[in-house]
This record gives sequence, C-alpha cells and structure tokens, in this order.
Amino acid sequence: MQIKDRIQDIVFSNCVKKNINQESLEYWSDYLFAKCIFALIPLSIIAMVPAIIVCLQKELYFILIFDIFCFMILLLVGFLPGVTVQIRKYIFIFLFYCLAFVFLIELGNYGPGLVFLLASTIFILIFFPGKNTKLPFILTLIFSFIYGICLQLKIFPVHQSMEVPVMEWVAISSNVLFLSALFSMLLPFLFSKIELTVQEQIRLQDSLIHKNHQLKISIEDVKKKNVELEEFAFIASHDMQEPLRMISSFLEQLKRKYEDKLDDKAQQYIFYAIDGSKRMRQILLDLLEYSRAGKFIDPIRQVNLNDILNEFCILRRKIILEKSAIIEYDNLPSILGYAVPITQTLHCFLDNAIKYSHEDTPPFIQIRILDKNSEWELSIEDNGIGIEEEYFDKIFILFQRLHNRESYGGTGIGLSIVKKNIESWGGRVWLESIVNQGSKFYFTIPKL
Ligand code: ADP
Repeated sequence: MQIKDRIQDIVFSNCVKKNINQESLEYWSDYLFAKCIFALIPLSIIAMVPAIIVCLQKELYFILIFDIFCFMILLLVGFLPGVTVQIRKYIFIFLFYCLAFVFLIELGNYGPGLVFLLASTIFILIFFPGKNTKLPFILTLIFSFIYGICLQLKIFPVHQSMEVPVMEWVAISSNVLFLSALFSMLLPFLFSKIELTVQEQIRLQDSLIHKNHQLKISIEDVKKKNVELEEFAFIASHDMQEPLRMISSFLEQLKRKYEDKLDDKAQQYIFYAIDGSKRMRQILLDLLEYSRAGKFIDPIRQVNLNDILNEFCILRRKIILEKSAIIEYDNLPSILGYAVPITQTLHCFLDNAIKYSHEDTPPFIQIRILDKNSEWELSIEDNGIGIEEEYFDKIFILFQRLHNRESYGGTGIGLSIVKKNIESWGGRVWLESIVNQGSKFYFTIPKL
C-alpha cells in the first residue's frame, strides 16, 4: 500500500465515527472533517515554506514558532490514537481561533487573522451540524470582545498600521459578525434540506426494492398460472375432441338415416346442431394450437421465407384462385429462427389478408422484409377492409373478433397465437390500417 493511502486510512479511521449510518448527516460531517485534515497536512507544508522565508526576513519569529506549533497540533488531531472524534474537532476549531488571534495581533486587523476567524465559523457549522446554530456567532462575538479588550488594555504590542485600534476593530469585527450570522442562518438550512432529500431518496429506494420484490413474486405467480392455464387449455381441448366427434358422427347418422322421416323444422335443428359442433371442433383445434404456441420444440435453423410463402400458395391454391388473390414477394432471405412458429405466423397473416378482403376487389398482398441491424422487420400489407384504430390492440386478444360469423368465419384465436409466437422469440408485433383501404401488419424477428 502506498504511503498516501496508509496516511488516508489512519486519518479516516481516527476522524470518522464507527458504526454510524453512512447516509446520515453526522457521517458526512465526520467524513468532511477527515478529508479536511488529510488535505491540510500537505497544504500546510506547502504554505509554510513562503511563510518561513517571510518570517525570517521580517524577523517575525513568534509567528514562525506558532506556525510550526499549529502544524504539530494538526498532526496530533489526525494521528493521535485513543481520542474521540468530537475532541479532535474541538481541538481543530480551537486551533483556528488561536491562529486568527495570533495573526490579528502580529499582522494587524486587516491581515489573514480575519479570514481564519470567518473560517472558524464555517468549520463549526460543517463539523457540528444540527447543534446550536447560534454558537459560531456567539463564539465570534466573544472572540471579538476579548480581542477588543486586549487592544484597549494594550496587552500586546499594537501593530503600527492602527491609529485608533479599538474603534477600528469594532468596525471590522461587526462585518465579520454580520457574515458569521449570515452563514449560521444559511448553512444549517442547506444541510437540513440536503438531509431531508437524502432521507426521501432512501425511503424511495427502499420502497422501490420492496415493490420490485413484490413484482418478481407476482410475475412468478402469473407465469405459474399461465402454465397451469395452458395445461388446462391443452387437456380440455384435447379431451373434448372425442365426445365432440361422437356427437357429430351420431348427428350425421341421424340426418342420413331419418332425413326423409323428419319434417323441415327437425332437419333445420339437425343442421344447426351439426354446424355448432363443427364450429366447436374448430375452436378446440385452435385452442389446442394456442396452448402449444410459443413452445419451440424444433431447434433453430435457417428458414427460407420464400419456401414458406410458396408452400402457402400451394396449400391455399383453391381460395387464391376463387378470390383472384395476388401475393407479391420476391427474393426474401433465409433467416435464422424457429421454422414452425414462423410458418404458422406468416400463414395466419396471409389467411386473414385473403379473408378480410372486399367482395368486389381481389386481394392484393405484399410481403416485405427489412434488415434492421439487430432484427428483421417483416410486413404483410393488404388492400382489404381495414381496421379502426381503436381495435388495434383488441384484435390480438384471445377470442376477440370484429365481425360476426355470417360475414367472416373464424374463431378469434389466430392473432393471439401469432402474438404469443412473436413474443416468445423476443419480437414485436403491431399494425397500421385505414378502414376500407387496407392493413399492414408488422412483426420482428431478432437476429440470433
Ligand atoms: P379470426 O380471423 O379467426 O376472427 P384473428 O385472431 O385472426 O381471428 O383476427 C381477429 C380479428 O382481427 C378478426 O376477427 C378481424 O376482425 C381482424 N383482422 C385480422 N386480420 C385482419 C385484416 N388483415 N384485415 C382486417 N381485419 C383483420
């Protein structure tokens, strides 16, 4: 360890009280005291060099000896073991008053003595925060009074520059007293405000830590509930398929065998029942899909986006022809990602773009991709019926639909699956849309 660090360690361990709250004003006042002593040791040595030269030239031997004496006391304040911090502070302040006194006597009423007198006021306020704020003013007053008496009684040889020393001193000391009173008012106010701000900050920090902890617990709770819910959705949708299949097949048989024996009303009821069971089957399948979404079973690999879209055009050939839809994309890149959810996501956007088109205008769909440094941004734009802005968030919620089944079929699960997939791989999804003009869905895939 360097000598400087060693000295610093000793001074700080002597001048800062142990076991006090490091956020308290008391701690910072001790800390400043230690810093002050630590800085004054080398500074005093530097300041003493010109002082020694001047004192020797002008034969001011008393000041010279007193300077060296004060330096010794300063060393004792910093290094003497077994003395309380409070006593060290008292000695330090007393030293400053002594310096002020000696400089005033030896160098005159306008000399550095005044500066030391004022500095004593400031040091008391800093090193004894929260104590009697009038104390420095009273001490300066007593000091000025004693010094005035000394002048009056000519106890010390008076400096030549003073013609009427006592009157002059009264005028000068009233200025020092005035400044002393001002500091005694302002500094404690400043400290108390700083202390309040620090305490408030600590309180806020504590409450933030507490809230963060609660949030973590809540997130864990939500995660657990989500897993339970997904398991429930999976089991429910999986297990309900079987009884539903039975209902559908018996309804079909009922229709086939007794069609000619049933009247129109009964046939209509059977039709509705079959239709309902078909819809229910679709909902269960979608729900099953939703519960599986976001769980990436296959490993990350290069996914060719052109291949996915070509495959879509083959799979949906019938509807594309029926609606004369045009799907425009070219030269899409291969990207690193999860093939199954990316395919599912693109298929869902394209299905919707074809489904939610105008009756009299063939769907025109454009797929674009942008390289955004850390992620890919894909967009699917259509010229369909569009969506009002107020529903931009709602459409991603499970079972939320904006149209009735008669106009556009569906279960309201597609975009929920899409959102779950995208968020699971760390992407974002959003849209722009103008009613009757079309929609543009965006989503991102972080580069891995
Ligand atoms: P579904 O299509 O089965 O109803 P989705 O979750 O895929 O369910 O979509 C939710 C709703 O968002 C749809 O009911 C529809 O109103 C709206 N929507 C989705 N895509 C589009 C689109 N391309 N143009 C207009 N509306 C759309």
